[in-house]
Amino acid sequence: MKKRILAILSLLVAVTCLSFGLAGCGESSGNGGSTGGSQTEQGGTGGSQGEEGGETCAHQFTADNVCSLCGDKWEFTEGLTYELDDETDTYHVLHIQKESGDVVVPYGYQGKFVTAVYGWTTEEVQEMMEASIGGPDAMEQFFVYSLTGITLPDSVTSIGDDTFMFCQGLKSANLGKGLTSIGYRAFGCSGLTSIIIPGSVTSMGEAAFGVCRELTSVTIGSGVTSIGGATFSTCISLTSIIIPDGVTSIGVQAFIACSGLTSIEIPAGVISIGSGAFDDCSELTDIQFNGTVAAWQDIEKIGDWDRGAGEYTVTCLDGTVDKDGNVTYFE
Ligand SMILES: [Zn+2]
Repeated sequence: MKKRILAILSLLVAVTCLSFGLAGCGESSGNGGSTGGSQTEQGGTGGSQGEEGGETCAHQFTADNVCSLCGDKWEFTEGLTYELDDETDTYHVLHIQKESGDVVVPYGYQGKFVTAVYGWTTEEVQEMMEASIGGPDAMEQFFVYSLTGITLPDSVTSIGDDTFMFCQGLKSANLGKGLTSIGYRAFGCSGLTSIIIPGSVTSMGEAAFGVCRELTSVTIGSGVTSIGGATFSTCISLTSIIIPDGVTSIGVQAFIACSGLTSIEIPAGVISIGSGAFDDCSELTDIQFNGTVAAWQDIEKIGDWDRGAGEYTVTCLDGTVDKDGNVTYFE
């Protein structure tokens, strides 16, 4: 288990370092500029749909992308690649990371709901790992900057493993209200700047948001019960985060090397914090724990969970605990 997480992390870090060298090429290309024009238009359409829905109709879109209540049409990006899943008789969108601009996924395709999105295949990930040995030039073919935003309909329940990994142009992701699972490394090394994880999500894969260096804002929904291994590793721009009430465990290296993290709120129900969870969070000074000092002391804290963390103070309901374990009870 631990070995695997370390492998994930080193892959993410290795690839990110390489990709930084390429960032300039992607940004300055004429192709990137022209893509920008059409993105804005598509993004605008998606946004206004949501606002109108709030005011006039709680849309219920069908697999024909029409609201069964008011007749509005869900505007989506044409020309995506679909595959019928025989088991569920629904469609999956494949290779979505290779699309351009702000992509809106439809509710349905050919009269059947779209329930999942996928990106890189296992073979492609393997190729990337092998290519990474050859340096940035060898990796160039794999880096996709043209996808800038993604909007998923409520029909999508699953984002596959590695789906948006390495999508450094991807700044925003609007996840639908039906989403339940986010795959392993799904947004790893992407350019996400903020993310709202809906309350429907119950499963987040290891390293799902690992090495999102531009990620400044994370809202974790109420359906999440554990923060898995390396989930937010090396999110260096993240300054604070609130772990929601239902969470009981914080995994191995969950926030390792989040060097900008200064404060974190941890719910009273947490019973274990994994090895390396806050390793190298050098600026971490403020841990808000929503339970008693005794409950904080009872949490199983594994190995070097706070090695390299800042000189933090844990503020509990009835007192504080410093990094060395010294307790001061409130008067
Ligand atoms: Zn409607």
